[in-house]
Amino acid sequence: MKIETKAVHAGRSVDSATGAVTPPIYLSSTFERQPDGGYPTGFEYSRDGNPNRNSLEQCVSALEDGQEAAAFSSGSVATMTIFQALSPGDHVIAPDDLYFGIRQLLRDTFVPWGLEVSFVDMTDVFQTRKAVRRNTRLILAETPSNPQIKVTDIRKTSEIAHDAGADFVCDNTMATPILQRPLDLGADLVVHATTKYLSGHDDVTGGIIVAKQRSELFQKIRTLQKIGGAIPSPFECWLTLRGITTLPYRMRAHCDNALKVAEFLNNHPAVEKVLYPGLSNDAGHYTASHQMSLFGGMMSVQVNGGRDNAMAIAAKVRIFTRATSFGGPHSLIEHRASIEGPATKTPDNLLRLAIGLENVDDLIGDLAQALK
Ligand SMILES: *Cc1c(COP(=O)(O)O)cnc(C)c1O
Repeated sequence: MKIETKAVHAGRSVDSATGAVTPPIYLSSTFERQPDGGYPTGFEYSRDGNPNRNSLEQCVSALEDGQEAAAFSSGSVATMTIFQALSPGDHVIAPDDLYFGIRQLLRDTFVPWGLEVSFVDMTDVFQTRKAVRRNTRLILAETPSNPQIKVTDIRKTSEIAHDAGADFVCDNTMATPILQRPLDLGADLVVHATTKYLSGHDDVTGGIIVAKQRSELFQKIRTLQKIGGAIPSPFECWLTLRGITTLPYRMRAHCDNALKVAEFLNNHPAVEKVLYPGLSNDAGHYTASHQMSLFGGMMSVQVNGGRDNAMAIAAKVRIFTRATSFGGPHSLIEHRASIEGPATKTPDNLLRLAIGLENVDDLIGDLAQALK
């Protein structure tokens, strides 16, 4: 089955009780036990399993060519659960341009808890190999990364992990399974903030982990999901699944718009540098063209005139909205360094652009007037 068909059908079926084509939302927190003590439908209690959550997990698992998935109440708690499934004394290799909240979580919570962490520039696979230790248990990559849109070679990095006897996890939030399928390239787990493109409408917070196999690590993750209960509500699962229906077509439009915006910015005199792997002069272009089908809807732009000018440009937009996040229909602009605070590694003159589904001429016009 092709991915557009999976996006519409995987994990769903016509409701046998009513014939409803669109699934109902099962708000019930508990499910009836039979006189013999059994649970013939497999549902007992909503923290352990809920029909809407099962549908979402089956669908995303199918999109990523995985075997199983576990949905969570945010992208952050999904990744946090992977760390919780490790043991004190384990070593983790993470990218230097890691999503800011996850970096903070590693540094402030999991290092005191006993994980050893190395942050490396994963665009250079030699750096990743050099960082391997005797106790390396996990390599986490994010590609393209947030916010510097760096590209990591998934196949080579997964080989390094497996040579070390470690699991390789790829955060696929920015690319989505439409553009890139890390499990097919060697990753053991994929993690998503479903908050972004998968739900796709700026109205859900959620996360999901997809496993290539029912590994020991994934079974621990499943146990933590069920026992801890950091799960999305049935309504959020329903909304996310509804969003996924149109994901392949939304991604194409995000990518088409983004490439045109990147080309416009790349030729603009007020711009120092555009970070977008779709540009042939981008550092990630070669690797991205081998592992992504299109180059995504996210870019960052470093403008001339430093922080003040970056803030001034963000202040002038009319169609772009000054807001964090990405993946919805709205184009968003964000000065990352001032959001991330004093510990940031993000350049001061960097604006992150999430290219939405508006007409690209309107978006380019808006940026042109803001850059003037
Ligand atoms: C947004 C995001 C997260 C965190 O997801 P939340 O749902 O906001 O917790 C993690 N990783 C990446 C790459 C993200 O973009």
